[in-house]
Amino acid sequence: MNRHHIAARVAGLTQSEIRAMTRACNAVGGINMGQGVCDVPAELLIKEAAKTAIDSDISLYTRFDGEERLRRALAHKFTNYNKVNYNFENEICVTLGASGAFACALTALLNAGDEILMFEPFYGYHWNTAYIAGLNPVPIPLAPPDFAFDVELIRSRITPKTRAILVNTPGNPSGKVFSRAELETIAAICIEFDLLCLTDEVYEYLTFDTEHVSMASLPGMRERTVTMGSYSKTFSITGWRIGYAAASEPLARAIGMVNDLYYNCAPAPLQRAVAVGIETYGPEFYTDLAKTYRKKRDIFCELLTEIGLDPIVPKGAYYVLADNRRLGAANAKDAAMKLLHESGVAAIAGSAFYTGETGEGLLRFCVAKSDEDLARACDQLRNWGNKH
Ligand code: GLN
Repeated sequence: MNRHHIAARVAGLTQSEIRAMTRACNAVGGINMGQGVCDVPAELLIKEAAKTAIDSDISLYTRFDGEERLRRALAHKFTNYNKVNYNFENEICVTLGASGAFACALTALLNAGDEILMFEPFYGYHWNTAYIAGLNPVPIPLAPPDFAFDVELIRSRITPKTRAILVNTPGNPSGKVFSRAELETIAAICIEFDLLCLTDEVYEYLTFDTEHVSMASLPGMRERTVTMGSYSKTFSITGWRIGYAAASEPLARAIGMVNDLYYNCAPAPLQRAVAVGIETYGPEFYTDLAKTYRKKRDIFCELLTEIGLDPIVPKGAYYVLADNRRLGAANAKDAAMKLLHESGVAAIAGSAFYTGETGEGLLRFCVAKSDEDLARACDQLRNWGNKH
């Protein structure tokens, strides 16, 4: 293809490391612990609800911001779980996953040339989506093992062009769960410098040691926060693309307008199925989910320690960052390829989540696998560890 047919905003980008690793993994028939595919079976109830919705001809466009039943269910969840009230009529927009919510929010609320602060390690899709929206992402390093941040450093990176800060809690890839005190510190900065807060809470039900706190629930923050999420991970339906953005009415209206222009609406029958799921499941569904993932995390972190790829044990989400130095590779990409070819298990190079060198010493594993696949991956890695 002729390079001059490619827009400047994407010409410098390569396909994500996450996608590239899935291809490399499939090529050798490996176990994919790279991409956060979440290949555990979806709940029967949700699958049945989707079939019923299709059979009942729920096949047309919904309202641009989603069908009423799902918006009502989400508003209810926000009140009960996130402790923030959003009006289902004009403050919630159903999107194509949290990624769709983020893309729409950036387009709707920020201008080209604006700076957006992002904690590092960051989810590469956040960084690059901001970049193609014409924004300048600015990293704020988090220091392991707790991934603490330095408030003075945040202040020092704020310029007259800074318009927003992104919070991802629980975080991908760090597993960091921002405490209430940390969120209060960030909130104070948002208020002082009149910043928007975009908060991606897609892993909100996956916390292991602490409670999940939503930024929008803090005093003074609801009006300047966009809360984004999806049911991809909660209901193991990453390919359905049902997510949402919630914000005060003027912001939600702008986000909804962009969502309409880009996508018209999210898939109608799948919206209905997710609404049925939210209406049906009680709190124990979500606490069981966290317990299930906690077990997977523990099994896998123990294995990583055993084979000398020391993990930074995550407090939430379903990824584990591990020290790759035992592989003796020149960089993280080489370490990931070496591990894939020697053990048949794929992980993502840590460099995909950092601007600087720090990521070169890390690999990210995703533990959202069935128990059988996780056990197989552990066996293969243990064999690798014994041989190398
Ligand atoms: N969020 C998931 C991850 O970080 C999936 C991303 C993707 O499939 N592109 O791996």
